[in-house]
Amino acid sequence: MSEEDILQKAATILRDTDSSLGPSFRLHGAVKLADGRVALKACTEAEAGKIRKLGDDWVTALADGMQVSRPSYPVIIHGVPAEFDPGSAIATSVLHNSNKMFISEVVDIRNIRRLYGNSDRYISKTAYSLVLTLGTQDAANASVLGKICRTERFVQPPPQCYHCQAWNHISSVCPKRNDTSSLACARCSKNHNTKTCSCPHSPQCTNLRSCTHIVAKCANCHGPHKSFDNECPVKQQCLTAHRAQHDLSGCYFGDFDPSAPVRAGGRDL
Ligand SMILES: [Zn+2]
Ligand SMILES: [Zn+2]
Ligand SMILES: [Zn+2]
Ligand SMILES: [Zn+2]
Repeated sequence: MSEEDILQKAATILRDTDSSLGPSFRLHGAVKLADGRVALKACTEAEAGKIRKLGDDWVTALADGMQVSRPSYPVIIHGVPAEFDPGSAIATSVLHNSNKMFISEVVDIRNIRRLYGNSDRYISKTAYSLVLTLGTQDAANASVLGKICRTERFVQPPPQCYHCQAWNHISSVCPKRNDTSSLACARCSKNHNTKTCSCPHSPQCTNLRSCTHIVAKCANCHGPHKSFDNECPVKQQCLTAHRAQHDLSGCYFGDFDPSAPVRAGGRDL
């Protein structure tokens, strides 16, 4: 679906869904974002407010599997005591109980996870970093199990394309997605899918993480490392630019833009 098609179709659905928008209602614009979401812009703040209140059902009429992407405010909490388990059934209520002064509703806690997944690396640690996703922008210092923790905004790292390995877009919107010669493996940069990369040694290694036989080559800088390795200068440059774009120093207070577009996400149209 082209952006123009999305624009027209969305406006029609919205007119049918909310009659108070009026028969001459139209949208200001539609943009397909590099992360696969679609941003819609209303002409007035009043109309944007009405659309935000409509719930999620109208976007499924736009395309199957589409969802409204609500603004969320992830924060990273440092020095969380190791005995706090974000996977436990009571994690949300425990966190809410110790932070009621800034998280008024328990439903505002959308997600809690360890920064680096649930790996074995935590076994010997006494503290770790937690990513807490809130539905409101009231991110102050959080306290966990009675300990006040240092809290800062968490910025999602930029996406990396599974097809060409470049940064800042996903494969479904890759400008080279129809060009099979641009398919690059994240490990060896050869022209195959990363999932099908295999060890050339006999006998073959089954665990590619520990395999030393594949010659690592980066699809972005052509250096002797995997395309996602932190040592890659292209990745470093991309992360630096990304951090500069998202000021990490402040909390969320006051920086929410109410005229920001209503976003629908979930799939590539
Ligand atoms: Zn790409
Ligand atoms: Zn490969
Ligand atoms: Zn091997
Ligand atoms: Zn590189």
